Amino acid sequence: MKLTITKKINATTKIDAVIDAEHLDDALLQAGPLLAQDVCGHVINGSTCGSTDIYLEASKPQGKYTYIKRCCKKCGAKDTLGTYEDGSGNFWRNKWEIYTPEK
Ligand SMILES: [Zn+2]
Repeated sequence: MKLTITKKINATTKIDAVIDAEHLDDALLQAGPLLAQDVCGHVINGSTCGSTDIYLEASKPQGKYTYIKRCCKKCGAKDTLGTYEDGSGNFWRNKWEIYTPEK
């Protein structure tokens, strides 16, 4: 079966994805990160940011690992896309963090 998803990122950007999988659960598993609600979960002084002003960032430092992050424009926190051990799909880690360089 084919699952077609259009995810609006912001006013000018959207992702059109066609996921081809044998079963619906596999298709939905693969689509998981696109189906997730993009709400910043960073906790500041005991309260959650909650902003929906989120953008995606992709990088591959030193050509080694691919990092896909969803970033909050309001507070600057980022959440990283994880990959299941068997490679069957991806998931948002829901560990919103603001990067602070080590001293
Ligand atoms: Zn935020």
